[in-house]
Amino acid sequence: MTNRLQNAPTRRLACARCATVFACNPSGPCWCAEETFRLPMPADGGECLCPTCLRKMAQQAARAAAS
Ligand SMILES: [Zn+2]
Repeated sequence: MTNRLQNAPTRRLACARCATVFACNPSGPCWCAEETFRLPMPADGGECLCPTCLRKMAQQAARAAAS
């Protein structure tokens, strides 16, 4: 018997901002969980951003909080 969770394929998502295709692994450790910054998850729960856009948004949020 195989463990379905361990063998779950990585999902491929398109960035909501730049349409870059990136991988997401909802059943295991995802790259976004290893990022040091924290962002509120999308309210509608449907849109994910690629690593590049996520970092850009984090920088903008940090600037907005500092001003
Ligand atoms: Zn993007």
